[in-house]
Amino acid sequence: MLREVLQELESALPGCVSTNPDDLIRYSRDQGPVLEPALADAVIRARSVEGVQMMMQWATRHRVPVVSRGAGSGVSGGAHATEGCVILSLELMDRIIEVNADDETAVVEPGVINADLNTAVAEHGLMYAPDPASYRWSTIGGNVATNAGGLRCAKYGLTRDSVLALKVVLADGTLISTGHRTFKGVAGYDLTALMTGSEGTLGVVVQVTVRLRYLPQEVHTLAAFFDDFPRAAAGVLAIGRARVQPSILELLDGRTLDALDDVHGSDLRRRGGSLLLIRTDGFGAAAEAETIRAVLVGLGAGVSQEGSEEAERLVELRRHSRGDDVDDLFRVGEDVAVPKSRLVDYVEALEAMAERYAVHLKVVAHAGDGNLHPTFWVARSEGLEAQSRLDEALDASVRLALELGGTITGEHGVGQYKRRWLSWEQEPAVLDLQARIKQIFDPLGILNPGKAIVA
Ligand SMILES: Cc1cc2nc3c(=O)[nH]c(=O)nc-3n(C[C@H](O)[C@H](O)[C@H](O)COP(=O)(O)OP(=O)(O)OC[C@H]3O[C@@H](n4cnc5c(N)ncnc54)[C@H](O)[C@@H]3O)c2cc1C
Repeated sequence: MLREVLQELESALPGCVSTNPDDLIRYSRDQGPVLEPALADAVIRARSVEGVQMMMQWATRHRVPVVSRGAGSGVSGGAHATEGCVILSLELMDRIIEVNADDETAVVEPGVINADLNTAVAEHGLMYAPDPASYRWSTIGGNVATNAGGLRCAKYGLTRDSVLALKVVLADGTLISTGHRTFKGVAGYDLTALMTGSEGTLGVVVQVTVRLRYLPQEVHTLAAFFDDFPRAAAGVLAIGRARVQPSILELLDGRTLDALDDVHGSDLRRRGGSLLLIRTDGFGAAAEAETIRAVLVGLGAGVSQEGSEEAERLVELRRHSRGDDVDDLFRVGEDVAVPKSRLVDYVEALEAMAERYAVHLKVVAHAGDGNLHPTFWVARSEGLEAQSRLDEALDASVRLALELGGTITGEHGVGQYKRRWLSWEQEPAVLDLQARIKQIFDPLGILNPGKAIVA
């Protein structure tokens, strides 16, 4: 980028623009595998809505690609830098603007960390329900842009179900407000829903009005250990048939338990070959937990009701079950979802697939939503041949999820990495319509190009 072009931005936003090489490297990728390595030309740390508007006017004037960024915890490459881009970091816009306890709403800036919002609203007896396992570092803006899921989604839904209104800066710097402060509202097309999950390709989210829920009065946590993974998956369906709606219903396979024991010194694997971690909440929590316990014991599980400290430890271990390694071309964490009725079939097929392609596999799942995170990996020392085996296994796992009526991504977004699978899921007319929507919002193609859709 020309020096004068950048200087123009530095004069408009003094102290916000960095070209420090360490910043460029740190901000140029998220946690997903990098397919097209690129280094941003600059990092802009926005401090105000007006600053974001000024930046987008500048980007439009000079046709500079802009990659919005929250915490960079995404795992699909949605926040990776692209050629000639600037990174627009929203992390310093982190004020909780208001909490309206009686309305059960809060208004926040996009850089607020998910956990911080939950801490703030807990004082009012409320919670912000969507809780991605990354909730301690991911931002509300990033959660909105990816329509993030999480553990409590089994009962309370995805981010989209908790977003009421947005302020968004469009590609040309125009500020718009979408949605409403009420839970209900059907005026016009639902632009709030469209923006939620658009991965920074339609605008920059600069303010979010969220719906809150009451903190449950009572919580019960069960750990159900099964001999093997498919049997634990069958437990998910049995819980549904007993007409109980847990708030958390997470499934971990034996290799995930091994990995957690290795890193955290726990003894999960000794207790069984697969774990179904279940939480019920609300005034009926004890009765619901008892119903679930009886159902799962009937399926042969060893079930224990956990005290609050052990329960927290187990949920926390689940949140770490992805592991701390950043994904790359030798290790890829997937995010398919299948209809719950096909969970057992899918889980069985996955294990056979890992064997067929000679790749390592561990699986954790938000099982209540049929959303699985199989991580496939190969030894780096095996080189390119192993990498192509890994790719074949990934392709096969995604294809099967689609054949079973599922999707290529349940909650992580398409980003850069999953674009190769999008046309497997969506018909040409739908892909074309999405490209035309993008064209309306972003005629110059400067908002996170090469991400989320096939344009
Ligand atoms: C250990 C681990 C566990 C995870 N667990 C879960 C989980 O349980 N559920 C889940 O859904 N995800 C999970 N994720 C993925 C990730 O945390 C989520 O996608 C999260 O929502 C990303 O938030 P972020 O602030 O880090 O956004 P980033 O990674 O910075 O950005 C993500 C996308 O949003 C865009 N974006 C960010 N901010 C804005 C904005 N203000 N306006 C417009 N676009 C914007 C970016 O351009 C990018 O496309 C996990 C990740 C890790 C590493």
